Amino acid sequence: MDRNQELFERARRVIPGGVNSPVRAFRAVGGTPRFVQRAQGAYFWDATGKRHIDYIGSWGPMILGHGHPAVVEAVQRAVTEGFSFGAPTEREIELAEAIVQAMPGLEMVRLVSSGTEAAMSAIRLARGATGRNRIIKFEGCYHGHADALLVKAGSGLATFGHPTSAGVPAEVVQHTLVLEYNNVQQLEQAFEQHGRDIAGLMIEPIAGNMNFVRADTAFMRRCRELCTEHGAMLVFDEVMTGFRVGLGGAQAHYASRIPGFRPDLTVLGKVIGGGMPLAAFGGPRATMEQLAPLGPVYQAGTLSGNPVATACGLATLREVSRSGFYESLAAKTRSLMDGLAGAARSAGVPFSADCEGGMFGFFLLPELPRNYSQVMKTESARFNKLFHGLLDRGVYIAPALYEAGFVSAAHSEQDIAETVAAAKEVFAAL
Ligand code: PMP
Repeated sequence: MDRNQELFERARRVIPGGVNSPVRAFRAVGGTPRFVQRAQGAYFWDATGKRHIDYIGSWGPMILGHGHPAVVEAVQRAVTEGFSFGAPTEREIELAEAIVQAMPGLEMVRLVSSGTEAAMSAIRLARGATGRNRIIKFEGCYHGHADALLVKAGSGLATFGHPTSAGVPAEVVQHTLVLEYNNVQQLEQAFEQHGRDIAGLMIEPIAGNMNFVRADTAFMRRCRELCTEHGAMLVFDEVMTGFRVGLGGAQAHYASRIPGFRPDLTVLGKVIGGGMPLAAFGGPRATMEQLAPLGPVYQAGTLSGNPVATACGLATLREVSRSGFYESLAAKTRSLMDGLAGAARSAGVPFSADCEGGMFGFFLLPELPRNYSQVMKTESARFNKLFHGLLDRGVYIAPALYEAGFVSAAHSEQDIAETVAAAKEVFAAL
């Protein structure tokens, strides 16, 4: 038994499934999770001391790689000043200013501690501000584990949802309408039937929880138009894409394609905390002033705007704001995708890939999927073989075929070449 296996056994005695978040348990791909001992740059070392090239990066936050010196220094300084005060600090303002300056749809933000909390609060705000209950979400998008969002489509077109978790009352999700991603016709039908009652439409604009599927421009334009027409809020969940696909997130990407485009609310997490528990939601002043203490929508948090987390986030945002940062990150990510595509082609393995900034997805499918059911056509046994083949060779990708991947500024050309060489061997054996 190796050290990872020993730790996994020990963990399972005191932690359900041995993990504190389900995907870490390797349930989809089988085998033993790697327990991380330490990480630096593009690598982490597991409990056996083996080095892995890390394409998860804590599921998105580590855009600079692990242990960036400027971030470490900022966090060390913050720790000596105090861990938490439950009173306001200047760094919260600085972080809010940095976020508002970068993202087109935001005038104000409220800081919280997790993406789940941010998404849950954004939904409450959309409901409170519109005085309506119903929300739209899309199959394959994940917005954290708030009750109202743990929902799957009912049978038939545009019906209200069923809970995807035990413990979620059917009454709580009865207001959530689940639609197919990139399906304009269903979207139009939903607004036609329920438009008057819809508080908001929540979407991952570039979805990273069904691997990597982008909303096409025509679909996004229709989302914007229908929300405006019916007085519903367009809520962008940019927990993953914010400061990851580019400085202005996915909303800047769509704004460059749809004149005047802005979401009504934005949910952020991951990169804005640089690896510490920090998330946010924001929007125009008039909407955000509906929140307590100014308005009737209640929201709060003991550790919100935590001084160590804001130091970490601010130092991270300072680095990504340097000119050329995203161009260089995007080129690296693109070269990884091209390398993998070439390796798959020469082995005769069906393959398609897409990426934006430092976020990517690839599929063992001949064409890019446009929605969740197309993603799930991937042969899972084949993906699992690919996953373990890469893991054996020290390349760590997400242990499930429905997760996106991440490249950091610390990944070198050499790391990418090593990854492609490993993939070549694995593809040949698929
Ligand atoms: N929204 C999106 C798009 C996410 O990817 C995630 C987490 N992966 C969440 C919300 C929830 O964030 P957290 O895990 O911090 O609660």
